[in-house]
Amino acid sequence: MELFELTIHELHDKLKKKEVSSMEATKSMLARIEAVEPKVNAFITVTADQALKDAAEADKRIADGDMVTLTGIPVALKDIFLTKGIRTTCASRILENFVPPYDATSVARLKARGAVLVGKLNQDEFAMGSSTESSYFGKTSNPWKLDCIPGGSSGGSAAAIAAQEATATLGTDTGGSIRQPASHCGCVGLKPTYGRVSRYGVIAYASSLDQVGPVTRDVTDCAIMLEAVAGYDAKDSTSVDLPVPDYTKALTGEVKGLKIGLPREYYIEGLDPDVQKSMEEAIATYRQMGAQFQEVSLPHTDYAVATYYLVATAEASSNLARYDGARFGHRSEAAQSLLDMYRKSRAEGFGEEVKRRIMLGTYALSSGYYDAYYLKAQKVRTLIMHDFIKAFEQVDVLLTPVAPTPAFRIGEKTSDPLQMYLSDIFTIPVNLAGTCGISVPAGLSRAGLPIGLQLIGKPFGEESILRAAHAFEQNTDWHKRRAAL
Ligand code: GLN
Repeated sequence: MELFELTIHELHDKLKKKEVSSMEATKSMLARIEAVEPKVNAFITVTADQALKDAAEADKRIADGDMVTLTGIPVALKDIFLTKGIRTTCASRILENFVPPYDATSVARLKARGAVLVGKLNQDEFAMGSSTESSYFGKTSNPWKLDCIPGGSSGGSAAAIAAQEATATLGTDTGGSIRQPASHCGCVGLKPTYGRVSRYGVIAYASSLDQVGPVTRDVTDCAIMLEAVAGYDAKDSTSVDLPVPDYTKALTGEVKGLKIGLPREYYIEGLDPDVQKSMEEAIATYRQMGAQFQEVSLPHTDYAVATYYLVATAEASSNLARYDGARFGHRSEAAQSLLDMYRKSRAEGFGEEVKRRIMLGTYALSSGYYDAYYLKAQKVRTLIMHDFIKAFEQVDVLLTPVAPTPAFRIGEKTSDPLQMYLSDIFTIPVNLAGTCGISVPAGLSRAGLPIGLQLIGKPFGEESILRAAHAFEQNTDWHKRRAAL
């Protein structure tokens, strides 16, 4: 086995036993990146020099017996995380040359645990999308089938894992952006409860929905990464001051007696037959392991996509007001006056989808329409939240598909934004409710594309979804399948 193929826990063991060095693992990863990037394009920036420095540092710590969970492990980050001294673009022309003066809290936490940064990953521009087709830095391919999308917006984070270009990655999830690409690329991806991980230093899209989370090869790695980044941060007032559990301890393999809910509204006509089949097989697997199933209802599911596209775009229009060419980012050379500079810098700097959303959001917030759209959406959001509260009075976790279909072909939905928006139907409600969800590999389509299943947990119920996901992994081998690149 090559070093770039190992999980965090496998590499950690080898580093600990001094069978390999972080320098060897990092060089193996950098060579892998060089070999497959022409096909995949998962990275916007490869930080080879930084990685070699980090690796040398890690090897010193290992020699000193000063090793922690991520010491010497090569990781990569969605390009939405501010990284001190390393260009951070959010896949937008407007931040093409932006070099942040500080690290996001989750980046600082990974560094404190010894991680080696190999690069910054491609995504949809400002995390707006489901396919990583809206990046200013080109599209990313699905390593399983290069003419298909990897999902989005954290498409680079999932493609890099599937193509074995990083041992683990971080993404962000506002409406499914970790879980959906993880599902499409055969990885594990977790969106934590709102407030579980600090958003400080993460470029804001929709602040009441955004959360940071890991994309990994297996559930154990996911638990390790979550533990590394979770916890209260005084710099993010929405982060919650609750102790961080030992998530790897939660992985007991035991699901006997676990009550799993199947939301009636999620098992609908129109679900792709391959996805349907994988869900049925997963349910059978859990039954054999002693879990119990029960149908539940999330009656406001139909309104989730519309609600999300009002709340998210409204927040985005406000968050993206700061890109005006005055303080940082792209400034138009053609401007004749101050107002002209704002206009032209934004017109040149933002892509189509970002502009569409700024317009939608500005409209929804404008006087006269605020009550009809934004306020109404907030009320429906509360109803959706209550749907989950009620369901969790009856069951411990919910099991659903992550996406209605496996990965679609590049270009298939770009001309029809509404079709693209609808592909997030099963992930968006979790963000609106503020709770947690994980995507785990659960099958392959007849065309050979990965299919993920989603486990949704109660607020701060990350341990229970990790435990249930891990138990599934113990009884299946989908997570061991690799894309042939
Ligand atoms: N696809 C959704 C959107 O376009 C979700 C994106 C995300 O989670 N960042 O907004």
